[in-house]
Amino acid sequence: MKELDARIQATFPYALVDDAHLYVDLPVPERFAEDRKMNVFFLRICSGCCSKCAYCAIRKATGTITSRSPAAVTSSLMYGLNRGFDIVSIVGEDTGAYGVDIGSSLPELLLSLCGCPGCYRFRLHDVNPQWIRLYGPRLLDTLYAYSQRFEMLLFPLQSGSNSLLQRMNRHYYAEEVGEFFHRVHCHLPHVRIHTHILVGFPGESDKDFQCTLDFLDQHPYVWFSAYPFSPVPGTTAALLSGDIPRADVDSRMAQLPQERCL
Ligand code: SF4
Repeated sequence: MKELDARIQATFPYALVDDAHLYVDLPVPERFAEDRKMNVFFLRICSGCCSKCAYCAIRKATGTITSRSPAAVTSSLMYGLNRGFDIVSIVGEDTGAYGVDIGSSLPELLLSLCGCPGCYRFRLHDVNPQWIRLYGPRLLDTLYAYSQRFEMLLFPLQSGSNSLLQRMNRHYYAEEVGEFFHRVHCHLPHVRIHTHILVGFPGESDKDFQCTLDFLDQHPYVWFSAYPFSPVPGTTAALLSGDIPRADVDSRMAQLPQERCL
């Protein structure tokens, strides 16, 4: 535990707060992790990530995945509920990776959290869709069993083109993500499905972009945030050829269905 505390202190020197017993393995200051205006309590379940997406430098800053214990996550959830929050945002750099370092998993954690008493709903953020391949049926079982516990899911698709996803080093197919979204939407129509779209990744052809438009067209219940690609120094993507001219990126951004763009 001392070793973990030292690591947390080194990474987040402001992490230890007054109620330290509640946060002993929590690498963020939870006293900042609430938004009273929006009535949202932010429940961080892990930090870091075990993927290597070509455009992303987050892992360089956070390191690989470090999951909080299920008991600590539950304790924080109860803390938030006792403070009167009824919307709980489950956050992490990649929440789908939760547990791989401690012999647990996101579906296992969700199943356990959903059983906590109280009237509250979850917003599940930032699940890299690659975890659908591993956990899809188990995630769906939990979502179906506790449908009223969820109000928003965010799985960042980034592109509807499988070849571009491969170039981004994202390990899933757009079709399997679409199938998952479809199942969630059919069984839980009240749940807002949210995704991210990255526009103008190096080498993105008109055909690739059309795949993204097609995906959004085929899943009209999906809301999204769109981002123009910008190279981050030190990432693989910054070294890739195939820059897309800014005017083309802007034109593609404008072609996205704006009425669903958040
Ligand atoms: S985009 Fe997300 S999953 Fe990919 S490397 Fe960055 S933090 Fe990890």
